[in-house]
Amino acid sequence: MKRVLITGAAGFIGSHLCDRFIREGYHVIGMDNLLTGNIANIEHLFALSNFEFYHHDVSKFVHVPDTLDYILHFASPASPIDYLKMPIQTLKVGSLGTHNLLGLAKSKNARILIASTSEVYGDPLVHPQHEEYWGNVNPIGPRGVYDEAKRFQEAITMAYHTYHGLETRIVRIFNTYGPRMRVDDGRVLPAFFAQAIRGEGLTVFGNGSQTRSFCYIDDLVEGIYRLLLSDYHLPVNIGNPSETTILEFAKEIIELVGNDQAKIIYNPLPIDDPKQRKPDITLAKKILDWEPKVSRTEGLKKSYVYFKEIV
Ligand code: UDP
Repeated sequence: MKRVLITGAAGFIGSHLCDRFIREGYHVIGMDNLLTGNIANIEHLFALSNFEFYHHDVSKFVHVPDTLDYILHFASPASPIDYLKMPIQTLKVGSLGTHNLLGLAKSKNARILIASTSEVYGDPLVHPQHEEYWGNVNPIGPRGVYDEAKRFQEAITMAYHTYHGLETRIVRIFNTYGPRMRVDDGRVLPAFFAQAIRGEGLTVFGNGSQTRSFCYIDDLVEGIYRLLLSDYHLPVNIGNPSETTILEFAKEIIELVGNDQAKIIYNPLPIDDPKQRKPDITLAKKILDWEPKVSRTEGLKKSYVYFKEIV
């Protein structure tokens, strides 16, 4: 049985990855310090003999006994309000944490996939964003702690690849949504669902003309799985190119929830909020034969089932 270590295992994406690797017949070692992760996301796995959980902060030395075939590094605060609240931890997990995991991968002769982000493109001046674009990031702005940690993460991962010959994979994840997102994580989709369900105002930041492109979690997990098993070591965008303005997105959620009390209210735009974002997925299509399958209409319906339960 192949053994895979997944960091950030109790988080939104990490927990879905645990499920996928369990389904594929792997021995899964989940690791999380539960700073933003939620143990409830993986509770259903604890009874399985091919699942283990380590409560550990990967920015400290990481020890895992026995062999490892793969490491997936998904530990990090990941929403703008989380990394504003925890700027130092965000920087440490992306930098020191990645260094520890690269060292572990080297000592175990394991292949490592690291979770990078569309935030490496910052407030992009090229649209849609393809992998060759170097980005437009403000290093000292409020988002810099996340963006620069992830950019450092890519740099050190490439260095381990070229200097040590380590097998590395880099996925640049665009906005992703689905069940197990935290209602209070501050991201737009949980915020809008919670507000619409409660009949509150949907807090559109700015005039809502900024765009995002939302990918359903199952599509993302499929893309990551394919990338891990591919032989491609340069960064690959995984996201859904279907782009919407945030104002349109608010209206879609109001219509889906059907609560007459829910109205739109306008709040100030956060500093350095990217004006547009849409992945160019030509590369993923070519090398992974991957593209998203779940439309936003379908994905939002599935997410609504989840949010209705927890709000
Ligand atoms: N946003 C919003 N209202 C909210 C939360 C977010 O209008 O209550 C906007 C935010 O300003 C950004 C977009 O929605 O333009 C996506 O924000 P999110 O925090 O989900 O992630 P980002 O893509 O900015 O990392």
